[in-house]
Amino acid sequence: MNESISGQCHCGSIQWTATLPHKRALNCHCNMCRSLSGADYSSWIVIPSEQFSIMFGHEYVTEYQATESFSKSFCKKCGSTVNCINDDKFPNHIYITKGNVSTHFNIPAEIQVFTKFKADWVEVDKNIPIFN
Ligand SMILES: [Zn+2]
Ligand SMILES: [Zn+2]
Repeated sequence: MNESISGQCHCGSIQWTATLPHKRALNCHCNMCRSLSGADYSSWIVIPSEQFSIMFGHEYVTEYQATESFSKSFCKKCGSTVNCINDDKFPNHIYITKGNVSTHFNIPAEIQVFTKFKADWVEVDKNIPIFN
């Protein structure tokens, strides 16, 4: 049986589960990720869409279409990210924000992308391969 992880939004209205293995674990320094999350960069796990399901709280899920190919689902009550879709990079996959995983897991970033757009104060981790 494949290992599974689960997570929730901040207020707990939305709960989801996902099975591993993941496709990619990445840190993204792009402007869009930074402004959508408000963080220095985003830490994602990318998994095939069919390995992700929302168990509770469908009625709280709302979607923001950031660009033609990038959308973000989030909780309409607390604003917490549920997942993102990036059809350009990984069609038929879902991006999970690692910060919203509530079960124990240990999947370090395997690559980092868009480091040339990184915030000035962020030190790029030289141990993680860069793909720009
Ligand atoms: Zn919520
Ligand atoms: Zn990004």
